[in-house]
Amino acid sequence: MKKDIKAIVFDMDDTLYPERDYIRSGYRAVADFLADEQNQAGEIFAILWDIFSHDPREKVFDQVLTRLNIDPDPLLITKLIALYREHKPQICPLPGVIELLAKLRAGGYKLGLISDGYLPGQQYKLEALGLKECFDHIIFTESLGRENWKPAPLAFEMMARALDTTPGECLYIGDNLKKDFISPNALGWHTVCFRNEFQVHFHHQPDPAGQPQHYISDLSELLPLVQGVLLQ
Ligand SMILES: [Mg+2]
Repeated sequence: MKKDIKAIVFDMDDTLYPERDYIRSGYRAVADFLADEQNQAGEIFAILWDIFSHDPREKVFDQVLTRLNIDPDPLLITKLIALYREHKPQICPLPGVIELLAKLRAGGYKLGLISDGYLPGQQYKLEALGLKECFDHIIFTESLGRENWKPAPLAFEMMARALDTTPGECLYIGDNLKKDFISPNALGWHTVCFRNEFQVHFHHQPDPAGQPQHYISDLSELLPLVQGVLLQ
């Protein structure tokens, strides 16, 4: 495999910002909507966060309504899900992200973003992060059809072409061991997993085909890794 990295492509959720902050932000929007004389938004938020903290896979909105003695009517649940996915989030890049992207760009690397998730929510996240202009090319996989969410290869193939690079010149950095590295590995990209305890998917075990080639626990390790280890 050619060792010259020319393009560095990022995942967004829990790679560029803490996904828990987005969940908090969405729960605040839902809590504001549900608040009334009996239940204040702060209390409803605390219940939502308590349910999520105990088991993120639980049906959080169904449970919060039950705990508030509100009928969990499917239409209301649909409304809450839409509120959550379409709210304008209050999120910030992880410390050092803006500087890292600037340094990579100054170093001559092309920068890309490949992110799964519902639109327009993912677009609102990127706007809130203020990072749109940092990337040469952005692919929200939802815009290619749900079947092209990771681990599907199409977004990675399109990204390498858009950045005018070969697969061996591309590196993908993400956090999700279940889906982020399967296609870039198969296509011959370099893969780096950013893994840290704050992440929502920290406890996932890697898919056998999805083992990243490198792990880092802080984004400050990326540039030395790209410049040093990978180029040796
Ligand atoms: Mg992610």
